[in-house]
Amino acid sequence: MARDPRYDILFEPVKIGPVTAKNRFYQVPHCNGQGYRDPSAVARMRGNKAAGGWGVLCTEQAEIHHTSEITPFIELRLWDDRDIPALAKMSDAIHAENALAGIELAYNGPNGSNNYTREVPLGPSHLPIATFYYDPVQARAMDATDIKNLRRWHKNAAIRAKRAGFDIVYVYAAHGFSIIQHFLSRRFNQRSDEYGGSLENRMRLLREITEDTVDAVGDKAAVAVRIAVDELMGESGLHTAEIEDVIGRMAETPDLWDVTLSDWSNGSRTSRFTEEGAEEEFVRGIKRLTTKPVVGVGRFTSPDLMVRQVKSGILDLIGAARPSIADPFLPLKIDEGRIDDIRECIGCNICVSGDMTMSPSRCTQNPAMGEEWRKGWHPEFIRVRESESRVLVVGAGPAGLEAARALGQRGYEVALAEAGTELGGRVARECRLPTLSAWGRVRDWRVGQINKMPNVSVYLDSRLDAAQVLEFGFDQVVVATGSVWRRDGVAHHHLSAMPIAADVAVLTPDDLMAGQRPSGRRIVLYDDDHYYMGGICAELLVKAGHHVTLVTPAPEVSTWTRNTLEQDKIQARLLNMGVDVIVSHVVDAAQVDHMQLACVFTGKTRPIASDGLVLVTARLPLDQLYLDLKAKEAQWLDAGIAGVKGIGDCWAPSTIAAATYAGRRYAEEFDAPEIGDALPFKREMVELLP
Ligand code: ADP
Ligand code: SF4
Repeated sequence: MARDPRYDILFEPVKIGPVTAKNRFYQVPHCNGQGYRDPSAVARMRGNKAAGGWGVLCTEQAEIHHTSEITPFIELRLWDDRDIPALAKMSDAIHAENALAGIELAYNGPNGSNNYTREVPLGPSHLPIATFYYDPVQARAMDATDIKNLRRWHKNAAIRAKRAGFDIVYVYAAHGFSIIQHFLSRRFNQRSDEYGGSLENRMRLLREITEDTVDAVGDKAAVAVRIAVDELMGESGLHTAEIEDVIGRMAETPDLWDVTLSDWSNGSRTSRFTEEGAEEEFVRGIKRLTTKPVVGVGRFTSPDLMVRQVKSGILDLIGAARPSIADPFLPLKIDEGRIDDIRECIGCNICVSGDMTMSPSRCTQNPAMGEEWRKGWHPEFIRVRESESRVLVVGAGPAGLEAARALGQRGYEVALAEAGTELGGRVARECRLPTLSAWGRVRDWRVGQINKMPNVSVYLDSRLDAAQVLEFGFDQVVVATGSVWRRDGVAHHHLSAMPIAADVAVLTPDDLMAGQRPSGRRIVLYDDDHYYMGGICAELLVKAGHHVTLVTPAPEVSTWTRNTLEQDKIQARLLNMGVDVIVSHVVDAAQVDHMQLACVFTGKTRPIASDGLVLVTARLPLDQLYLDLKAKEAQWLDAGIAGVKGIGDCWAPSTIAAATYAGRRYAEEFDAPEIGDALPFKREMVELLP
């Protein structure tokens, strides 16, 4: 198919200082939880994206000097020459696909505790460091020598970056992760010398380091400034008018302006809290301040919106981190007129959770993310079938859909049987909950792909039992029958059933998703799941007119969503809606007119009046079909069945990302040689010094 001429503008080259991007698709720097630990893995991941048509691919942040590092997080390091080969491997992989390679140099300063190097962190002022944890560490206010040193370190790192082959070198002043932003900030910068006070003084470090960097690498590489245009704190934080002033004052100094929101939770807001393109109101004024190209993000997946950003003079380059993770081949698909094939980011920030947990980032939509090198999975391609095997997939949730899709892509004959009258399983149900509509894309993309495959047949309204499966006589059977929310309170705290009086009205998320609502007004929602479901059910109940008290043993609501950068936003939303939040307590026992709460620290109990209980606790696998088939293993041979495997939530309930991964893994390992106890992935080992 040919490209729609409406999108031609996206494929125009853009000159960035001494280099030229072949098109407007710009993968902005993004972390991925691999960094210096897994250099070949990051190189492969970026190289694959370059093959997918991005004009520019940037690294995650690269620490420029050992006096500022962000242990335990795993980003890149450019501490000395020995770091160059790993970085060069990445720029080589990007150049091999005719794209430009950018590197985000970072000196975190007050944003790193230096737990690895044990150096004293430096900052504009004597203040506690600003990390995700309340570390008992303070930064020391830099003196003139420290500032001179920092400028030299940054310059040396820029030169090393150029030697490592990078075409674009960043000066980083965004996301609250960079000392340059801390100098800009009236909150963090309390200095009285020429680096503090007035805007001109606070931006002096930015100006000097940008000029130094142009000086050091400008002959060959472009210099980008990535700047936080707004901290969404009103006048008390950095705000658009102030940063427009900064950009206006040094408009032509860098070769590119990369504009974003701060902190990271605002720079990477999820679909629960913002629409695609929501940064527009903060960045639409930047281009009239400078003749240099401007790149910005917005979880862009729609080419029409991208075109509008360019045509209306908001952005020159379409920045993307998450959309490029969910679909590394997004530009190529637009180029080839395959808009329907775009695997749209759902804005869930599971990718971010990889970085936050120091593990290779995964992606709900793209199960190959993080597995490109270590397992050799490709975001777009999969090897063709190696036998005539016919596969029955039972259950069309994210696991079953992905298994059927990937097996279908390999060319196997697949039957997908679904008990319900719609495809999507939990995704179909959950995307009807408040704020989760974008999650339906997990189903939509897979169903769209499967519909194009003549070798995949879909059977709705087909609840199968073991006898029926045996009758069909497929060679292989995948059981992906999902899970059910528990109604006995078992989860992290209660490991056996909670005492619940027989007349207590108990509902679970499954009941709420099926349309049931409590009959009473005062509802206690007990959340011992700690991800998104508790908060969303509370929101649903408030909207239905109930008064909700959310009780959780954690010290805050939805505590795991710290890893998706949503926790503070979720808690604020619930408090603003009038939800009563009781933290560090469990529901110890449930009675018809009250719940007995117990403090997790003291065990002290107290009753709260309530008319009903909603339990958001653990789930149970719906694995009866799998167990029944296992019990009939003696009949498999006669039925022509060579293997039965359970995957996804029916194997062990987990995230949607784990389900799509399980589906993909099944398809990847299908007909692959048995590896026994061998490690199922590659890993890079450190070099031992003599
Ligand atoms: P996962 O996240 O592992 O994909 P889901 O719960 O989202 O799990 O999806 C499981 C799907 O399996 C649901 O759509 C459910 O209707 C379907 N299902 C469950 N049992 C059967 C069965 N015996 N036959 C066919 N489909 C089933
Ligand atoms: Fe988008 Fe979620 Fe994938 Fe991240 S994990 S890229 S937010 S779909």
